[in-house]
Amino acid sequence: MSTPLDADLAIEVRGLVKRYRGGRGQDDIDAVRGIDLVVRRGEVFGFLGPNGAGKTTTVRMLCTLLPISDGHAKVAGVDVRRDPAEVRRHIGVALQEVGLDPTQTGRELLELQCALYRVADPAGRCAELLALVGLSEAANRTIKTYSGGMKRRLDLATALVHKPQVLFLDEPTTGLDPASRATVWEEVRRINAAGTTIFLTTQYLEEADQLCDRLAIIDDGRLVAAGTPDSLKAELGSDVITVGLRQDEHRPARDALAVLPGMDHVTDAGEGLAVYVRDGAAAVADVVRLLVDAGIRPGTVTLARPSLDDVFLASTGRRIEGGAPEAAA
Ligand code: ATP
Repeated sequence: MSTPLDADLAIEVRGLVKRYRGGRGQDDIDAVRGIDLVVRRGEVFGFLGPNGAGKTTTVRMLCTLLPISDGHAKVAGVDVRRDPAEVRRHIGVALQEVGLDPTQTGRELLELQCALYRVADPAGRCAELLALVGLSEAANRTIKTYSGGMKRRLDLATALVHKPQVLFLDEPTTGLDPASRATVWEEVRRINAAGTTIFLTTQYLEEADQLCDRLAIIDDGRLVAAGTPDSLKAELGSDVITVGLRQDEHRPARDALAVLPGMDHVTDAGEGLAVYVRDGAAAVADVVRLLVDAGIRPGTVTLARPSLDDVFLASTGRRIEGGAPEAAA
């Protein structure tokens, strides 16, 4: 038997598995393949991964909306499989599909939610929540007049009426323009500062970097990395030099760079190679010289600090967004 899960953590997950049954001759789909993670109380925890990685499936299991196939999960100190009703009392959930009645005003919707949860002072709680998500001025307008960002913020407010300990947000800014995204980030920070632990999924690297105290990266149902954004990037070494190359140049370029002083490692980076080095500024000239000496002229050379995309690349051999997956195959 496993040891008891730690009640002081907001979320603790061990060996979590989800297998969707195929049915009618179709193969089963292993959407989540045994993940372990912990979220401490008061954190904003990010769950980062590309499309189809298993983010929504994980969130739905933790929110009691989907049966767990195997493994253990505790949320707000409560075992999800054993006591889902008690888990629901302690969590708020804002999922990807925002299902708001367009003919209600923002205030009417929140008052209805307060009534459903038997909140003691509904008018006071509504005013508090509208202010928290920056919708006080728009409160008496019908929801059909709201922008996409305003709807997301109203949805955040509805998830908070019963003062949950843990708030789950599934891709809270997908489909929003950059300005609306920044506003939602502000609301998330404010909600967190007011004491709520936040578990959010995202496919945006910048969102994970900006918002999250710690994060886990998921790919094909498995965790490939976990830690603070800074610690994950620091593990890669200090700098990354990306050289643009033709596919047939990858192998000879790797051979040529094998003698580069101060190099940590090299990975395929779509249309070129990513070279991880301790001191990028000092190494750029050597990289170019070694390649030219080998008869290779790189199309581009860029020097950058590692990003979370480099963390994903180092773990999976692919870029999480904007990459060229076929080059890594
Ligand atoms: P996205 O960013 O696109 O929302 P995700 O990381 O949230 O992706 P999931 O929606 O959890 O990924 O899907 C993980 C895998 O499980 C995918 O292969 C998906 O096709 C599959 N899947 C999801 N829901 C079901 C379902 N109800 N039945 C069968 N397979 C499913």
